[in-house]
Amino acid sequence: MKWLIENVAYIDGLHQTYVEKGYMLFNAGTIEQIGVGMAPHCDASYERINGENRLLLPGFINTHGHAAMSLLRGYADDLPLHAWLNDMIWPAEAVLTPKDIEIGTQLAMMEMIETGTTTFTDMYASMDRVAEATIEAGMRAVLGRGLIGLDDSSLDKLRETEMFIQTYDRAGDGRIRTTLAPHAPYTCPPDYLKHVVKVAERIDVPLQIHIAETAKEVTDSLAAYNLTPVESLYKSGLFEHRVIGAHCVHLTDHDIELLAQNHIHVAHNPGSNLKLGSGIAPLAKLLQHGVVVGLGTDGAASNNKLDLYEELRLVALLHKGVEQDATVIDAHTALRMATSEGAKTLFLEDGLGTLIPGAPADFQLIDISGPRYYPRHNLLSHAVYSSHGGDVTDVFVAGKALLRNRQLQTLDKEKILYEAEEAVKKFPVHQRLKV
Ligand SMILES: [Zn+2]
Repeated sequence: MKWLIENVAYIDGLHQTYVEKGYMLFNAGTIEQIGVGMAPHCDASYERINGENRLLLPGFINTHGHAAMSLLRGYADDLPLHAWLNDMIWPAEAVLTPKDIEIGTQLAMMEMIETGTTTFTDMYASMDRVAEATIEAGMRAVLGRGLIGLDDSSLDKLRETEMFIQTYDRAGDGRIRTTLAPHAPYTCPPDYLKHVVKVAERIDVPLQIHIAETAKEVTDSLAAYNLTPVESLYKSGLFEHRVIGAHCVHLTDHDIELLAQNHIHVAHNPGSNLKLGSGIAPLAKLLQHGVVVGLGTDGAASNNKLDLYEELRLVALLHKGVEQDATVIDAHTALRMATSEGAKTLFLEDGLGTLIPGAPADFQLIDISGPRYYPRHNLLSHAVYSSHGGDVTDVFVAGKALLRNRQLQTLDKEKILYEAEEAVKKFPVHQRLKV
């Protein structure tokens, strides 16, 4: 299908600028042309979108999350990470069925689409159901079966992972990519990681892993191995492969050097790290060392939103405060972290996360008619500092509409909301605060 968006303001995500009035043509899932001023003549075969009062942006790329944890949103709050996981989250997750995980993923995708995300990353269980739900919804995703190496089933899960990768890598017209996903150094001891590394040597997919999320993780790692989590992963051989390290909050200077030298990419989750009281990743230092960093929400249980507009504003503000330097993470840098740097973080193809000819037609339109977008001094500034996920009106992935005029096109909202509420009725009752 051929489309023309005309009379539209846009930010292409590549240049540190914006266009006040322009157009974009896309066809068969790919951007054909984008430019300033009046659109070229297009025949009746083009579907037209009037972009008046709209800002066109690349779709957002969420580099870390656990989609089905949307079912745990608000179930356990205001607890430190280890108590939160052990006492609350894992017991509730133990009763989730594959069908529940599919419903949770659909709930998460609705929220992500409604707030401008076109690509998401997932590390969870029942990944075949997650992949099928993603293909049906039309999103782009990087998916990995979460691996925990602490019990007898851990090698079975690794075999399950291999099957999953063989079946789903590049499924859905190439929109699905797969990873190996060992959960974290503290849940995947060195002996188990050796098995994961062996699989990585045979199967050329990236790995995603939580790294140094809390100070406790670092203290425990030093006590057990006399190595930081980063050093222990380096020693395991994992860093010889393509790695997406989620969090990387507590790093020594040596850790940062190891990440940079080994070209490890980082998924930065400022909202989740703040909510769990984990700390603030040394983002300015990572960027100074040339580490590729993308933005993530993490799961809805620890955020509690999957709205990258929130992370976008947060990342731009937080590090200015930490560094006491207003020049740190400017609007352009923040936006790129939510778009093209996010694509790089996930080792996805060139062009994704930008609006340039030849790139996949993954984009969003936001309504800029409201007061927070006036006066129009700088639309790039407004997109980062003034915007809101609720302003998103249209979302396309690979040239297909997933949201049109704020209406979901591929997911049945009413049905999914009902099913989500039904699915959580079996969670341990003592944790529910309803009266
Ligand atoms: Zn996570």
